[in-house]
Amino acid sequence: MKELKIVSEILKNKDASESLSLLAEKFAGAVIFSSSLGLEDQIITDMIFRKNLGIEIFSIDTGRLFPETELLLQKTNDFYGRKIRVYQPDSQMVTKLVAAKGSHSFYDSVENRKECCFIRKVEPLYRALAGFKIWITGIRAEQSVARNVVDTLEWDEHRKIIKFHPLIFWNLQKVKTYISDHNIPYNPMHDRGFPSVGCEPCTRAIKDGEEGRAGRWWWEQNENKECGLHIHNKK
Ligand code: SF4
Repeated sequence: MKELKIVSEILKNKDASESLSLLAEKFAGAVIFSSSLGLEDQIITDMIFRKNLGIEIFSIDTGRLFPETELLLQKTNDFYGRKIRVYQPDSQMVTKLVAAKGSHSFYDSVENRKECCFIRKVEPLYRALAGFKIWITGIRAEQSVARNVVDTLEWDEHRKIIKFHPLIFWNLQKVKTYISDHNIPYNPMHDRGFPSVGCEPCTRAIKDGEEGRAGRWWWEQNENKECGLHIHNKK
């Protein structure tokens, strides 16, 4: 894919912050970052807002978030004096789902869970990404088995967009050091055993020895658990 090669050449040997600056400059108005307000996302937000880069930041309010996550969004906006754009699910789709299957249908089957994730996350994501060429994410390889096969740059065939994961090879210690060195606001739940924070009914704290995303949809037995936002190509 020609454009992927061009981006790859531009980002060669550049660190995360330099890469974001270059993308903002070379692809003005075409770069977007999706934040779920996790530790990694807070770092990328910091890199973008601190340098006032022309990269749009958005988050999806699924309607089932923890209060701590909602408060963090406000705190982050206040901290930088900027606004993260918030997308919400289509209210008619949510109403229809709840009327047909109740408000906790995601516990009944993987299909039901994916249906809820599609309505509350994936459909708003499609709206947010429309018209952009490069999508930045905060995923890291060591977060899960599924993410361990991902490259820094990917072509997302489903959404026809280039994906860039600037922190893909960062380890947790590096993430924590950046957060504390830059005094960045973060979700206090991370200090209470929640390395990954998603929707309230679908996230629990992890136990010793479990991988970082084990607390997401914990009742499912699949090691490749994702909500449908990220569809990865293998390296
Ligand atoms: Fe629905 Fe749970 Fe997915 Fe949130 S994480 S969208 S509540 S199934």
